[in-house]
Amino acid sequence: MSTDDILERSVRYLSGVGEKRADAWAESHGVRTVRDMLRFYPRRYLDRSTTTRVRDLQEGDTVTVMGTVRTYDVVPGKRSKRFELILEDDTGQTMKGTWFQGLWWIRKAFSVGERVALHGTVQKYGRWFSITHPDFDRLNDDAAALDTGRIVALYPGGQAMEAVGLTSRSVRRIIYRFFKEHGLELREQLPDWLVAQHDLMEGRVALRAIHFPKSHDELEQATRRLKFEELFYIQLLLATTRHKRQDVAGPAFDAPGPHTRRFVDEVLPFELTDAQRRAARDIVRDTQTGIQMNRLVQGDVGSGKTVVAVLAMLQAYDSGYQSAFMAPTEILAEQHAASLAEYLEPLDLHPTLLTGSQSATEREAALDAVARGASPIAVGTHALIQETVTFDRLGLAVVDEQHRFGVMQRAEMFAKGERPHMLLMTATPIPRSLALTLYGDLDVSKIDEMPAGRKPVTTVQRHEKQRADVYAFIRERIAQGEQAYVVYPLVEQSEKLDLKDAESGYETLQATFPEATVGLVHGRMSADAKDETMRAFKAGDIDVLVSTTVIEVGVDVPGATVMLIEHAERFGLSQLHQLRGRVGRSDTQSYCILMAGYKQSAEAKQRLAAMTRTTDGFEISEEDLRIRGAGDFFGTRQSGMPELKLADITEDTDILETARNAATAVINRDPTLSEATHAELASYFERYYADRSMGFLRVG
Ligand code: ADP
Ligand code: MG
Repeated sequence: MSTDDILERSVRYLSGVGEKRADAWAESHGVRTVRDMLRFYPRRYLDRSTTTRVRDLQEGDTVTVMGTVRTYDVVPGKRSKRFELILEDDTGQTMKGTWFQGLWWIRKAFSVGERVALHGTVQKYGRWFSITHPDFDRLNDDAAALDTGRIVALYPGGQAMEAVGLTSRSVRRIIYRFFKEHGLELREQLPDWLVAQHDLMEGRVALRAIHFPKSHDELEQATRRLKFEELFYIQLLLATTRHKRQDVAGPAFDAPGPHTRRFVDEVLPFELTDAQRRAARDIVRDTQTGIQMNRLVQGDVGSGKTVVAVLAMLQAYDSGYQSAFMAPTEILAEQHAASLAEYLEPLDLHPTLLTGSQSATEREAALDAVARGASPIAVGTHALIQETVTFDRLGLAVVDEQHRFGVMQRAEMFAKGERPHMLLMTATPIPRSLALTLYGDLDVSKIDEMPAGRKPVTTVQRHEKQRADVYAFIRERIAQGEQAYVVYPLVEQSEKLDLKDAESGYETLQATFPEATVGLVHGRMSADAKDETMRAFKAGDIDVLVSTTVIEVGVDVPGATVMLIEHAERFGLSQLHQLRGRVGRSDTQSYCILMAGYKQSAEAKQRLAAMTRTTDGFEISEEDLRIRGAGDFFGTRQSGMPELKLADITEDTDILETARNAATAVINRDPTLSEATHAELASYFERYYADRSMGFLRVG
């Protein structure tokens, strides 16, 4: 029987499983095949050396305590009832586990005399040590194993699992039997030379050890091998893509021509920064090779990425090609169309805007102009351009705020056969190790320098009772001829409610600033209405612009110096940073005021603290990553990224680097994985990774 077959076999037919258990396992944890089961990793390990006795407890420590349930009950309290359990450890000392929620369900979970392990952070109340809402394991079945001094794996459970007897102990037995009967059928997928080179534990041994570690050292080795594997396959995917790209032909542009020169000499109202020049040079070089460019321009909000794109589009134009400029939202597409039009007007070039809300006639005319090649640049949302537009001679696609799109969209953007140069722009600075994973198949130019004269935005947190002061401050700024944004959160679930927030805020502000012009813009307005309001704001005809988060990215109104964010505690960190990036776009001092409720989650506090501490996008994104964790940061759940079960991209950076080097080495040596030594690797990779969509990586 081949490896593939055994891995794909249903767990249903393994000793100790059967139909009911298989169903519960599949439903609770997605375990269907042997491969799933082997990767159903323990949630925690227990042994004598990693548990703490009551006498050694210290307030604030996070610990696991094993013991016997002495009493438990729901007890009345001053404010509310709670459930208390008294646990006696093996030395006869006692502590408490306390629950405030789910009392009746919890009550049924225990019985007196049973062995349990409580896990959590210790607090002290009077003479009692207590863990509130501890993570717990009922050890009755496992006590014997633990008593023999083994390291015992505890698995994810749940009610459905318990109902069919799939306790940690039975899972261990099932997996144990599997290894006994079939362990030798598991073959090494990674080539021997790679395993040797990186001093990895053999695959089969690692899988066995992660479930049945003989020592902490063995567990560590096994974990390292399996983390390596997870990261290696993703890197292999990227390395393959990168390699394939090497022979993807792209249009061969000419060196920058007359329009570029005129733009730089006559139109551009400022000097390019060195960083902008470097990025522009990278593009000029890439686009002349005849190989498709895939370049990411990474630069903090306000660093001036748009101009770099304009230069690239002018080079395309002088080389006889059209460009597509894609933005994540309609409002941004409109904004960009307007600012591009302004830049390009003096050169007598006119970008064509495509929006979902154009009239049929307008749209047809626009599409026709692009199709005939009469329009040099099409601007629209990425969906629109991808789905509806045919170009005469597309040479360059600019994707603004790339982090909003997945890699899949990027890969399939022009699957119709067009291979324009791809210029991706993102304001999300990410640590190098993450960049390797996220953009591992791209070349990167960094704009790590702000235009001269910019002052960091002063950021403060304010509360409701300071509202009058905040308004007084805004009044002063307006009197100086400056402008302000007031932003309300938009939470999808209650769009109507939030809209009401923005609308009533709009009314309040109108009443508060009778001397000023207050405008309102939100996602439900027609594109025309939005456009008109934005234009009026940009022209300085509106002093205070109230909005929902539609203005989050890319909007550029240099005269705006105040950003007031209502309910700031509800926004994500990168979102707050993006919003703040709407001000500070000139040499006038700008301000960001975070209006926050008194009730804040711990995470919200951290986010707001980060905002007032730094304006550095790099620091902000590291903090964001730290607060949210990698899974959420990447949005992997929704996007079908091969899930990382063990590896953590933020923590396992050294393994990630090693995996990346290894993957590159494999592909350099054997790009098509056809050497005999790569046969197992090739079939495993093919089966579980290569056909996966590339849509897995998405930030923001
Ligand atoms: P982002 O990188 O956030 O997309 P933009 O391209 O919107 O930034 O540029 C932000 C603002 O800075 C714009 O008003 C733009 O005209 C201006 N700008 C860009 N480059 C320079 C420069 N080298 N010197 C001065 N201002 C610049
Ligand atoms: Mg931008």
